[in-house]
Amino acid sequence: MVSFPGQGHVNPMLRLGKRLAAKGILVTFSTAESYGCQMRKTNNNLSDEPTPCGSGMIRFEFIDDAWDYSKPGGNDLGLYMQHLESVGKQVLPQMIEENKKRGRPVSCLVNNPFIPWVSDVAEILGIPSAVLWVQSAASFSCYYHYMHKLVPFPTESEPKLEVQLPAMPLLKHDEIPSFLHPASPYTMLKKAILGQFNKSSPFCILMDTFQELELELVEHLSKLCPIKTVGPLFKHPKLSSPDGEDFRGDLLTSDSGVMQWLDSKPSSSVVYISFGSVVILKQEQIDELAYGLLNSGVNFLWVLKEPSPGTSYLPVKLPDGFLDKAGDRAKIVQWCPQEQVLAHPSLACFLTHCGWNSTMEAVSIGTPIIAFPQFGDQVLDAKYLVDVFKVGIRLCRGEDENRIIPRDEVEKCVREATSGAKATEMKENALKWKKAAADAVTEGGSSQLNLQAFIDDIVATCT
Ligand code: UDP
Repeated sequence: MVSFPGQGHVNPMLRLGKRLAAKGILVTFSTAESYGCQMRKTNNNLSDEPTPCGSGMIRFEFIDDAWDYSKPGGNDLGLYMQHLESVGKQVLPQMIEENKKRGRPVSCLVNNPFIPWVSDVAEILGIPSAVLWVQSAASFSCYYHYMHKLVPFPTESEPKLEVQLPAMPLLKHDEIPSFLHPASPYTMLKKAILGQFNKSSPFCILMDTFQELELELVEHLSKLCPIKTVGPLFKHPKLSSPDGEDFRGDLLTSDSGVMQWLDSKPSSSVVYISFGSVVILKQEQIDELAYGLLNSGVNFLWVLKEPSPGTSYLPVKLPDGFLDKAGDRAKIVQWCPQEQVLAHPSLACFLTHCGWNSTMEAVSIGTPIIAFPQFGDQVLDAKYLVDVFKVGIRLCRGEDENRIIPRDEVEKCVREATSGAKATEMKENALKWKKAAADAVTEGGSSQLNLQAFIDDIVATCT
């Protein structure tokens, strides 16, 4: 498995790796060394030797990308992607050859978006390749229909065009993945995602979603592409490595004391706030959010991390005197074990940027949502959370990342999501999805059967 070195890519890929290994496969998990060395710091047991994982094995071997993020241009995604491709195309075949010599011939290569060149390597070496799509089926459908020009999308002359895709609700112009909008400044990211659709056909496209969640659409897409829904991948059975620890893909170390703080709070009293690994809010947005939370009277756990070194973002801080006013009602952390936090009984709801991993985790754990999408597929995920899955309310639409949501809007939204009729309705719906997610990954469930079929396909290529 080769993952793009980003938190939102590594998490689902590593989860898939663990699930495959648990079923008896030998998995080699690889990403760029610049990410891998951080993973070594947050896990003390990432070995390049096969380590037992369920009834199979997992090992870690990283591609030495020799990339310095602090040098000028070090945070230029376009430059980095070109560099990774040129290094990876050389190193990956050597790694595969070396593994073969050591009695570990590679039967299948799996990659995720942003590194479609892995499929090229697979094709040259004659190895079957699969893709793990790390967003929703709905997002896949948008990119697929855009790439193949199957339906009209907004253009410069018609920027407000609504988009109707099969088996999906009508999408307003600001509900399609924002990179597909003509006004999007993120042309590099659009190119990176569409790159996957240009490449040689994988024999399987795995998706971290489950059939029951996106039913009609999954049925429709299955007629167009070899997709298999295998999610929610994070709901894997607990695995134990020799020293009893589980592997995680965290780039940052979790703050201590989070779970104890949650333990000290009453049931359904805490709002958890996180914007994932990429989104950094502006100082004014933080100020309004902070006072909105304070005025709503809830307890809150907020992941407020520093911008990565070398980026142009300024460090954000809470308003002066804020923490004194909030007292023990607030816990501010740099990072936390999100799935455990979401599953804690003290959680009332999740104020999120709606990245797909966070979306899947919340939906499958049964946590209601306050949607604060910024860009990319987040705006589409927010649409689904609110209008289709009916587990969320909107704090903003995401049409303008710089928009400041005033504190009284924040307060009103938090109150609505944590008490009263709307909160009850969202919780009831969330619990239905929680049950459906659990059913999908248990023996005989849709995702479990799809995962087994994928394994059977891999095994068939080696016999
Ligand atoms: N996450 C975490 N701890 C945190 C914040 C986030 O473990 O404090 C994890 C979260 O569980 C999810 C991932 O980071 O798996 C973020 O992925 P997502 O797709 O939601 O957002 P992205 O970072 O790609 O924007």
